[in-house]
Amino acid sequence: MLPFRLIYHDRYDLNFGAHVFPTVKYKLIRERLLAEKFAEPEDFVVPEPAPEEDLLLVHDADWVRRLKTGTLSYHDIVKLEIPYSRQMVDAFILSAGGTTLACRLALADGIGFNIGGGFHHAFHDHGEGFCAINDMAVAIRRLLREGVLERAMVVDCDVHQGNGTASLFAGDQRVFTISIHQYNNYPAVKPPSDIDIHLPDQTGDEDYVEQLRSKYVPALEGHRPNLVLYVAGADPYYQDQLGGLGLTLAGLKARDRAVMDAALERGVPVAVTLAGGYAFQLEDTVSIHVNTAKAALESLEAAKTGRARS
Ligand SMILES: [Zn+2]
Repeated sequence: MLPFRLIYHDRYDLNFGAHVFPTVKYKLIRERLLAEKFAEPEDFVVPEPAPEEDLLLVHDADWVRRLKTGTLSYHDIVKLEIPYSRQMVDAFILSAGGTTLACRLALADGIGFNIGGGFHHAFHDHGEGFCAINDMAVAIRRLLREGVLERAMVVDCDVHQGNGTASLFAGDQRVFTISIHQYNNYPAVKPPSDIDIHLPDQTGDEDYVEQLRSKYVPALEGHRPNLVLYVAGADPYYQDQLGGLGLTLAGLKARDRAVMDAALERGVPVAVTLAGGYAFQLEDTVSIHVNTAKAALESLEAAKTGRARS
């Protein structure tokens, strides 16, 4: 059995039909992890939907009401860029529950891995770019309120800047946000994170990891969070339909290790969310996310060995 849990629900599938966002990926990741015998059925846990009071720690009550009652405006739906269905809304609310659970399990086990979530383009009063509910913000606000957390850090490595997350935590000293992304890409307007690493088009593996480490490690030591939320987007991949960076499968896994090693070596647990991934070959998106789970195990084992030695 794995030393950490994988959080998954069959209803994570947002079921958009023909859409560039293949939300069937969640199910395929679970199947691949089982087929490769990386995980056993007992390694998976099922989340509960985030309660309304948790959603309201982050989102405007009217936005939540419009989502739940199916009364989004035409403008709301155009900005979301996904077709409305109650199933879609339920999947977002379930994903927020999943990320909250990932954070709790990370605090217990070192890693908590949500095979979902990472909806970083959701703002206080609207959704954008396939994101209606900001699951990381819901989880962080909930755990801050409980007093389980004092300080958190969001490390957003999706190819798109984490505009919703940056906006939601602007001015909140407890939550440090880092986003490393392709500069010439959506969103056109990028509300400032605490650190934004704006990368030029086609940035490759070594440059990417070096730039990430040079900003992230000092921030980790300065902010001293109780928890890192890692947004492990698969879309910095060189074969991504919506991305323009140049990372390979190996480079993406090196990125995963860099984020998780630095945190775990310092005794900081990591909650993982998956975010985007639009590779021309769906199998590649699945491989990238499966590799993140493998990297999590390697980082956890490396940190344990390192601590035992010191
Ligand atoms: Zn993205």
